[in-house]
Amino acid sequence: MEILHTVAELRHWSRQQRTTGQTIGLVPTMGALHAGHASLIRAAAASCGRVAVSIFVNPTQFAPNEDYARYPRTFEADCALVQAALAQTKGANVVFAPSVEELYPAGASTFVEVEGIGDRLDGASRPRHFRGVATVVAKLLIAAEPDRAFFGQKDAAQVAIIRRMVSDLRLATEIVVCPIVRDADGLALSSRNVYLSSDERAQALVLSRAIRQAESLAASGERRANALIEAAREAFASFQELRVDYIELVDWATLEPVENAVSGSLFAVAAWVGTTRLIDNTILR
Ligand code: AMP
Repeated sequence: MEILHTVAELRHWSRQQRTTGQTIGLVPTMGALHAGHASLIRAAAASCGRVAVSIFVNPTQFAPNEDYARYPRTFEADCALVQAALAQTKGANVVFAPSVEELYPAGASTFVEVEGIGDRLDGASRPRHFRGVATVVAKLLIAAEPDRAFFGQKDAAQVAIIRRMVSDLRLATEIVVCPIVRDADGLALSSRNVYLSSDERAQALVLSRAIRQAESLAASGERRANALIEAAREAFASFQELRVDYIELVDWATLEPVENAVSGSLFAVAAWVGTTRLIDNTILR
């Protein structure tokens, strides 16, 4: 598996594959890969002839007070995980690992802003976060020209931003969303889980519990957002040390709050466990 470092190399690889009739799948990541990322890579391999996995900790999606500097960087282990996830496939798959200067050349001042949606959910508490996300994903899509790009439902607000951007910019890539991969006890896998102490790891389970509480209430026929949000809030009640950032029922396309759930509504939570901000969600059926 080749490791590419420049946009020119990635574009050349992609076009080369295309001349031999291959379809291209792109899996954008920030590294510190886990089984959630592996599921995206396997999904890409299952539906595309060639796979590119990008590994790039994108500085523009972090605020100055956030964890950019200490974000886990585990490049060798990441390459081993990509290799293992693609073990059943034949052909020239690649890891794309650019430098910051490669994706943001000196003087770079062009950003992609998805207005409105970009300021909701995580965008409300992390101003300019989604501007950074949309910008880097646009750069990756323009460089790799993939047929499909694979994203996790884990970051459901991010999915809404990317879908809107791809539609607005008339990009040719199909966006594929993969289910949330969880630990056996329900905690959604996240590269940031390594920040948690063992006490915090136990407290963090309240996010998935809150999601399940709302889900089962919805399954019993409750549609009102207030009731579903209240059910989730109750799960947090016995954990005073956790700080809820948001608990919301929204339209998954616009991220606007809805008063009543319909099939496809996004129920999402974000909370601080110590100094670590975690998110979780479910799509109500
Ligand atoms: P990240 O490296 O955190 O930027 O994530 C890269 C991609 O992996 C994003 O599309 C995430 O939504 C996805 N992802 C992260 N965690 C999970 C998970 N637990 N299950 C499924 N996909 C995930």
